[in-house]
Amino acid sequence: MDRFIYADNAATTRLLPQVLNKMMPYLTEQYGNPSSLYSFGQTARQAVDEARDTVAEYLNCRSDEVFFTSGGSEADNWAIRMAAHAMAKKGKKHIISTAFEHHAVLHTLKALKKQGFEITLLPVYENGIVQIDDLKQAIRPDTALVTVMFANNEIGTIQPISEIGAVCREKGVFFHTDAVQAVGHIPVDFAGLNIDMLSLAAHKFHGPKGVGALIIRKGLRFANLIEGGAQEKGRRAGTENTAGIVGLAEALKLACLDMEKATPPMIAKRDRLISGLLGSVERSRLNGDPIKRLPGNVNISFEGIEGESLLLLLDFKGVCASSGSACTSGSLDPSHVLLSIGLPHAIAHGSLRLSLSQDITDEDIDTLLEVIPPIINRLRDISPLWEKILKNEKYE
Ligand SMILES: *Cc1c(COP(=O)(O)O)cnc(C)c1O
Repeated sequence: MDRFIYADNAATTRLLPQVLNKMMPYLTEQYGNPSSLYSFGQTARQAVDEARDTVAEYLNCRSDEVFFTSGGSEADNWAIRMAAHAMAKKGKKHIISTAFEHHAVLHTLKALKKQGFEITLLPVYENGIVQIDDLKQAIRPDTALVTVMFANNEIGTIQPISEIGAVCREKGVFFHTDAVQAVGHIPVDFAGLNIDMLSLAAHKFHGPKGVGALIIRKGLRFANLIEGGAQEKGRRAGTENTAGIVGLAEALKLACLDMEKATPPMIAKRDRLISGLLGSVERSRLNGDPIKRLPGNVNISFEGIEGESLLLLLDFKGVCASSGSACTSGSLDPSHVLLSIGLPHAIAHGSLRLSLSQDITDEDIDTLLEVIPPIINRLRDISPLWEKILKNEKYE
């Protein structure tokens, strides 16, 4: 396809050419092992050290708090498992999270539950935001860890991380946040927000895939993730992914330097897309808080249609998007995120997520507004569900 609109940036993003340029030497001539002693390896060592400093600078943490991983899932798994097992030794086996975390968090918690941990999932209500009072009430003397995502990957809602951090610090409970959707998109201040552990992934902010980081507050003595060499202070062994790490830092730097300028136009596009779709398609609704949401996130449910069919027809028009519906995830249930904000199954199935990047132009927004409503109408014309809705019959 010569021209297409990529609106699935919450899934992954385009690697920026500037980032690739920074990575290139470490994929080619500078192949030395950063942990070797000869000076050839020292160039790579220096690149990794600088990358660590850059991450620390833009996230307001210390360089020695940055541990590079293979991505967001690994960072989430590591943070939650190590905190859980460390605290279990002190008799604390209760973990608090939310109903709409990423599966990297939820499935880790599920595995821990089988090992005897007790999990409390806080509700996120219709606007997709955790309430602090619920958190305060859920914390018990045996609570080991609170893990709440910074911003949700499906509906884009931004959580009250500062308040959560303050409550956890006051109660002496560890606080991990999956900030994979937030880093590079909204300001993230590790130290200022009282966060103990934070996960990020480079490919969500125009860096390379397969590299991320877990920021671990200094002084936390938890178990290592991978045993082996002395890389990452021995806590996550394995020869460093030099090019990936350099790419992560460069992408983070560019995203953060650009953020102030890039955010208002992105929000304007997002809101034009939202109001345009809600205005032109009857029985449609925005999922998640309209204000406390990521600058690039649009998530709308259209009654009476199936998300997969919508995605297929959009694909014919050259639009890459995502849905909270069943088949895309390989299960029959609609997205747990949409169910967590109280959407009935039938409505959750007809959801569309468009996640923008700076590559999306105003003309692209026009195109989306032109293309989507007729597709919805076409799908509704052949939908038995829509017929029932029009006749006001009960459905579900
Ligand atoms: C993408 C994503 C992850 C997983 O990151 P990977 O780098 O793909 O492992 C975790 N959490 C959230 C919120 C995400 O959006």
